[in-house]
Amino acid sequence: MIPSVNFHLWQPCNMACKFCFARFEDVKRKFNLPKGHLPEEDALAVVDELADIGFEKITFAGGEPTLCPWLDKLIVRAKERGMTTMIVTNGSRLDESTLLQFKPHLDWIALSIDSLDAETNAQSGRVLKSSGGSPDYFKLVDAIKAHGFGLKINTVVHSLNMDESMHEFIRHARPKRWKLFQVLPIDGQNNGAVEPLLISSEQFLGFVDRHADLNGVTEVIPETNDDMRGSYAMVDPSGRFYDNVDGHHHYSRPILELGARLAIQQMRYDFKKFLGRKGQYDWVIDRRVPARITLSGEVASGKSSVGRKLAERLKYQFFSIGDKTRELAAKEGMNIVEFQRRCQLDPSMDRQIDSKFSEDCNSRNGLVVDYRLGFRFVRNAFHVFLKVSQEKAIERLNGAKRAGETSATVKERNDSFKCQFINAYGVDYTAEKHYNLVLDADDSTVDELVNRILEQFNPIPNQ
Ligand code: SF4
Repeated sequence: MIPSVNFHLWQPCNMACKFCFARFEDVKRKFNLPKGHLPEEDALAVVDELADIGFEKITFAGGEPTLCPWLDKLIVRAKERGMTTMIVTNGSRLDESTLLQFKPHLDWIALSIDSLDAETNAQSGRVLKSSGGSPDYFKLVDAIKAHGFGLKINTVVHSLNMDESMHEFIRHARPKRWKLFQVLPIDGQNNGAVEPLLISSEQFLGFVDRHADLNGVTEVIPETNDDMRGSYAMVDPSGRFYDNVDGHHHYSRPILELGARLAIQQMRYDFKKFLGRKGQYDWVIDRRVPARITLSGEVASGKSSVGRKLAERLKYQFFSIGDKTRELAAKEGMNIVEFQRRCQLDPSMDRQIDSKFSEDCNSRNGLVVDYRLGFRFVRNAFHVFLKVSQEKAIERLNGAKRAGETSATVKERNDSFKCQFINAYGVDYTAEKHYNLVLDADDSTVDELVNRILEQFNPIPNQ
């Protein structure tokens, strides 16, 4: 069975996207639900039914789900029943108070953002009906991430935005996942409105290709029309499963009449297609308050200075893999560059050092750790990456006059680290998607960088 389900609990929406295939006007007409949703108690019972038959993740969608006054109760119920929880929202009603309200039980927020261009959004209808405006997406993603939610961005690619670039925004937002959907026609939902926005698979894949370089920043997941058909388990606002295999919605009997176990058997969900569109992933969010900060970055990014200062400000202990490695190199009578070359030839040495060092880190709380692979090995931590240009790195190393470390070794050392970690663990530590925060360290002082980390490292208990 597909282990995740989308519950479109609320038909009304405060936007009017022309491509929207979740209109559910039929639900209002045919099922005596003039307001387009089940009563609160029935919606909670649907969540229970979905949990009973083993769904592991539930996504609350609409319409616009944040218009539902009892959305928080549904999220709480789903979490109490052991499910990973997500909402898909246009973001217009998320502010500090709603984020704080959802925070204890909501794992993921998926924001629907198709364009950063006001005119494109106005033409496609992805704007508030009341004002014609859109949320400030840059500020919104900052707030979502500052509260520790998993961030996903959903983008519908259509004829109006297919030539645009989302690079600047995605580089800023660094969502865990960025889903790109080829605008999907669904008979009975968006026909009569979507036609001018339709694009071919080639046009869609052109947009995907132009953004493929963002794969190091996030995980880019494209879905063509065919990928989307039959690969989602979905429930409509009247509490029926539905599928879209034939290009229109095909519904089960209501879950509360038949029971979810029998109702789902009336559907034609395709598990292989679900896997093909990467629907299965590690969606569990670590909800504990971070007890550690890890700092990663290339040579001369200032990790060590920033780390020491951070530890001092937070009254945390400071640990450094560099100190540990220098200690080991000295014991072997080598300098750090020679020792690194030897580690590259014998990856088992790296594994031993990483295993011992991470064990030490994970056995303590209140730590700042200078460790390139901290994102991989240090648990329950806030992971920071410091970016530095090659020119700045050379300038700093020349200033520091460290033995065995000259401008000539910068590129070699950076390449060596990258290669070493890819060989040993199959991870590129420079990929920004691994980090909670990425800072440009070229033009900032140590104090400025520390302040910016402390602004974001402001954990509020989740439970
Ligand atoms: S915001 Fe979402 S639910 Fe609302 S009209 Fe647009 S696509 Fe449909």
